[in-house]
Amino acid sequence: MRLVVDLNRCQGYAQCAFLAPEVFSMHGEESLVYNPRAEEEHREKVGRAVVACPVRAITTDALGGVGDRPAEAGQGTSDGR
Ligand code: SF4
Repeated sequence: MRLVVDLNRCQGYAQCAFLAPEVFSMHGEESLVYNPRAEEEHREKVGRAVVACPVRAITTDALGGVGDRPAEAGQGTSDGR
């Protein structure tokens, strides 16, 4: 699966690194490093990271199409899963 993080938008909140550490990691205080071609097995985790990112910096095909995000996405709070 493919993903892109808009690093101009990313504020280094690290929600993605917490939810999908196999794909996203923080280097230093605010610098994000990620795998733009994540393994398919991480699709669900990446989808959670997309929804959790407070600034919606992550774009991926994990939710059915690049740029396609759920309208009721949370702001990093638990959705019960
Ligand atoms: S959750 Fe969003 S703002 Fe935070 S590090 Fe990840 S991409 Fe950046």
